[in-house]
Amino acid sequence: LLGYIGIDTIIEQMRKKTMKAGFDFNIMVVGNSGLGKSTLVNTLFKSQVSRRSAGWARDEKIPKTIEIKAVSHVLEEGGVKMKLTVVDTPGFGDQINNDNCWEPISKYINEQYEKFLKEEVNITRKKRIPDTRVHCCIYFITPTGHSLRSLDIEFMKRLSHSVNIIPVIAKSDTMTIEERLEFKQRVRKELEMGGIEVYPQKEFDEDMEDKSDNDKIREAMPFAVVGSDKEYQVNGKRVLGRKTAWGIVEVENPNHCEFAQLRDFLIRYNMWCVAKRTPLTQLLHHSYFKYNRVTEASS
Ligand code: GDP
Ligand code: MG
Repeated sequence: LLGYIGIDTIIEQMRKKTMKAGFDFNIMVVGNSGLGKSTLVNTLFKSQVSRRSAGWARDEKIPKTIEIKAVSHVLEEGGVKMKLTVVDTPGFGDQINNDNCWEPISKYINEQYEKFLKEEVNITRKKRIPDTRVHCCIYFITPTGHSLRSLDIEFMKRLSHSVNIIPVIAKSDTMTIEERLEFKQRVRKELEMGGIEVYPQKEFDEDMEDKSDNDKIREAMPFAVVGSDKEYQVNGKRVLGRKTAWGIVEVENPNHCEFAQLRDFLIRYNMWCVAKRTPLTQLLHHSYFKYNRVTEASS
């Protein structure tokens, strides 16, 4: 039957349906308390891609996050609708004993997989299964300028078995350009030595084009980010930034930090994948692989 209808036709039909219905894209932010996770969630929603779409009037101070909480907005670009959900998590590392501090996060991730799977095998299957699976997890690294802490390595290692990890250097405005470069290099090396696979994983490069695109991302990682949900006037334009005694750090200015790269990598690239290729974006595809691993591991 497949051969008769033609797999290309089916993929094209699925793509059209996905474009019309929109798709879910779920990101989770994880890391020590106070590294700017909640701020970056707001930055993501407030930054260029979504500035038009949401009525944002929040100017109050961000409270300390005390529970796992998901925030969603529908974004639209080039006719593709995407429901972006960011799952904010309470920072860990506050306790003296941080044993098993990844457990609530792991549990949340696995529960979403299970929920999706249950719906999928349900006889009275919903037409469109809400997808709350975590497609990728942004891991915030403390900008120490030294090394990754053992907790970071342990946490990423555990999480990388069930979710795509994208490490970022938090609060990178606290580092000089040289320190930042050096720290990025060191982190890449330590991740490699620790055997931690971050997204995009080499084993999923499908062809040479994929490999060269992904190599560029891998060489640029971890993105050194700065977050803010406050706007300032710079050269007659309103920009998201952090005002310091010596000037304004512009969050979306690629000369100041790598937030825009991270955002484009996460959002634009995924929208582009949906629009140009198949309904399964690379990330969704990969999380499916990850999912298989989870089930293998638990059975
Ligand atoms: P969370 O605990 O990781 O969610 O951190 P928050 O988003 O609540 O931020 C903690 C504090 O760090 C707040 O005072 C923020 O204004 C500040 N902050 C957030 N992002 C940045 C950043 O990129 N650079 C600097 N210097 N401070 C930041
Ligand atoms: Mg928080």
